[in-house]
Amino acid sequence: MTRILDAAVLGAGLAGSSLAKALADKGWETLLLDRQSFPRHKVCGEFLSPESQSTLHALGINESIAGLGHREIERIRIIFENGAEIELSLPGKAWGLSRYALDSALHIAAMQAGARLQTGATVTAVHKADNGYIIHAKQGGKAFTFEARAVISAMGASQRSGLPGNRSSASIKSSYIGVKSHFRGIAMEPVIELYFFRGGYLGLCPIEGGLVNASALLEHETAVHEGKTILAILNGVAKRNPKLSEKLMHAVPVIGSQAAVAPVYLNRKPLAWDQLPLLGDAMTMIPPLCGDGMSMALRSAAICAPLADSYLRGSLSQADWQHTYSKEINLEFKRPLRWGSLLQWLFETPALSRWLPDAARLAPNVAQGLVHATRLKPFRQ
Ligand SMILES: Cc1cc2nc3c(=O)[nH]c(=O)nc-3n(C[C@H](O)[C@H](O)[C@H](O)COP(=O)(O)OP(=O)(O)OC[C@H]3O[C@@H](n4cnc5c(N)ncnc54)[C@H](O)[C@@H]3O)c2cc1C
Repeated sequence: MTRILDAAVLGAGLAGSSLAKALADKGWETLLLDRQSFPRHKVCGEFLSPESQSTLHALGINESIAGLGHREIERIRIIFENGAEIELSLPGKAWGLSRYALDSALHIAAMQAGARLQTGATVTAVHKADNGYIIHAKQGGKAFTFEARAVISAMGASQRSGLPGNRSSASIKSSYIGVKSHFRGIAMEPVIELYFFRGGYLGLCPIEGGLVNASALLEHETAVHEGKTILAILNGVAKRNPKLSEKLMHAVPVIGSQAAVAPVYLNRKPLAWDQLPLLGDAMTMIPPLCGDGMSMALRSAAICAPLADSYLRGSLSQADWQHTYSKEINLEFKRPLRWGSLLQWLFETPALSRWLPDAARLAPNVAQGLVHATRLKPFRQ
């Protein structure tokens, strides 16, 4: 007879790794599965918002990542194509830390708690079975299956059809392309800088080792127009904002740190449960411009963990798990997602974005309040 695992967590990004750690901490036999090999570079601004801290603490992973050499960030500076700037202070210290270091540290934390990590394994299907679920996966061209009593999907925003969390692209409006690279030779204050230009924006975030992460979210045509390689695209879009072009003048790319992702769909409504509980980007994606996607991924894991634990103990039915998880996700995420979409729209609409610097100068509290509204409240257990 095949042994049935307690829990399978599909996707070993931030949401999946932190949930796997939380379940292993409770003593559940947990398998964490990912199609990629790690460490790896991932398209992300690498800005871990101040609001992430309470969730990292609740998940018991703040110490695992506090020693990775993050850079502290105190302010956010927005620089428009015409040179106008807005600067806002953050409600606390944010961290600049690469996903290369962060995701691997979370894997180690999950494994130290007792979870098993299997990388290079792609999940192809999940089916309901008598005692839980059968998971079908492929590794090195070989198919395999295993069973688990509980399965949680944290497979990120780009879901293949047939798997839980997939939403037909026809139902989602606009799509973007994300690219990133690390650079040396860029002087940065403890500030995250967002440069806007026609067709997208690019963020510069200081990270560990004196490096700077440059990540851009671009309209499809902009990326295609600027070039065929990630560095060509980044160099091309930099010319669209004179201050960005100047900032990157002496920048030297770190070989091997380039990554791209497409399509990136924004404005997906939160979907907390689709046959299985969904975490992080699999559930929804706040516009990256808000810099809070990682915080949301961590928060969804922190909300899901005690419910999954109660379900595995037999003190919560699956229907009640689904009901409570969906309700809590809606309560926590509705407001930031709504304001995040508004912010994205303001910056995307040229006629409005032209007035934003003046509006922010005239009403700095409103600008600060708008950014604040896109953020999660501190996590309370
Ligand atoms: C351009 C850009 C900039 C951003 N900047 C920021 C920022 O500065 N700050 C911030 O907080 N957020 C930012 N975000 C958002 C942030 O990166 C995400 O919200 C976060 O990565 C979500 O984590 P996750 O664990 O849900 O998903 P992911 O980190 O994407 O993890 C999902 C995992 O699932 C695996 N997977 C997928 N399919 C399968 C399968 N079939 N089988 C097995 N494994 C599978 C993938 O390999 C991946 O490792 C940005 C996003 C973009 C696009």
